[in-house]
Amino acid sequence: MSFNKLNTEGVMLFEQPFARVPHENYRKVFRASQKNIEKEMGAVQNMVNDLTKKGSSEPDADAAVKAIDGMIARVEGLKRKLSDMQESAGTPTLNVMRERLQHLATVEDIESSTAPEFTRWADVRLDRWLVDWCLRNGKEKTARMITAQKGIEKLVDVDLFSDIRRIEDALARKSCTEALAWCSENKAALRKLKNTLEFDLRLQEYIELARARKTIEAMAYSKKHLLPWNDTHHNQIVQAAALLCYPPTTSCGPYKRLYDPSRWATLIQAFRLAIYHLSTLPTEPLLHLAMYAGLASLKLPACYGPPTARNVDCPICTAELGQLAREVPFSHHVNSTIVCRLTGRIMDEDNMPMAFENGQVYSKEALEEMAARNDGYVTDPRDPEERQEFGKLRKVFIS
Ligand SMILES: [Zn+2]
Repeated sequence: MSFNKLNTEGVMLFEQPFARVPHENYRKVFRASQKNIEKEMGAVQNMVNDLTKKGSSEPDADAAVKAIDGMIARVEGLKRKLSDMQESAGTPTLNVMRERLQHLATVEDIESSTAPEFTRWADVRLDRWLVDWCLRNGKEKTARMITAQKGIEKLVDVDLFSDIRRIEDALARKSCTEALAWCSENKAALRKLKNTLEFDLRLQEYIELARARKTIEAMAYSKKHLLPWNDTHHNQIVQAAALLCYPPTTSCGPYKRLYDPSRWATLIQAFRLAIYHLSTLPTEPLLHLAMYAGLASLKLPACYGPPTARNVDCPICTAELGQLAREVPFSHHVNSTIVCRLTGRIMDEDNMPMAFENGQVYSKEALEEMAARNDGYVTDPRDPEERQEFGKLRKVFIS
């Protein structure tokens, strides 16, 4: 096995949501078609039953022909509707699925991670991850620009995130309507995940009625929308009932918390988690997840030490990537290599590390060059006071 053999399984680990999002979309089209078929065929079946009943008691040829025409019209209407749905939503979603699976399949044939085909493939992947990052961070315009420039419309989920933004904007305006519609569209899937976002949204609408002191409406609302959750949310429903006795200005802990407007921000987060979960999208940008692996191999305790201990060439030592690497483990170096801060070259027996009196260490090559320019004297770039003859430097031995 060659060292550069492509780890196809490792590559695929990141790609579940890539295949899953269009699959979820297609499932929705399929369910909607199924519902239409059930509704129309059920109606036709009833018409057939009526006709047979009437036909045996009081036969009327004209009425029978009329009823049959009605049935034909219904079935034709259904056929039109289904083909419209397939054309407007089904086929485009299938095309997205096909293109994504083909994109993944090309990796299977690439032997080595240094092959130019893999570099090209990984470039597309990086573009996808950049779009994902932009979409998650509210930079939709940039996301659309990258998508159009690179021609990767079918490989990114711009539409999914437009949907997320539309629903989140509504929640920010304190409207649950859009989020509730989304819940009802995904009812079965949410139930399977034991997700209770719908209850949280209903509870919030109830709280808003209580805040407006619309007691009668609040009670009717609770009966209709909260009580069905009684098996799993009994205590919360009881507490919600008691809320009506407390004004929004109450200082009583649990009721004050129910009236707290920050619950809306929590709802936005809960919605986002639910929609990510449904599409098997990770809660963090894919770009970050991919970078963690690289960051973990570079991260050292010194990256978070005093500024003098940091290395200008180390990405983790920078504020932004250091923040990103906070949660990843430190790298484990069985054989450490020491790199000169001045030249960036490795220090070893051939290029010994040399120490100033203050303990700062640089490579022999770097200091020799400095001494040659300064009549045999060297100065610690971090501490101009620290000036001495090159010959007086201490050799450091690596053990
Ligand atoms: Zn560092």
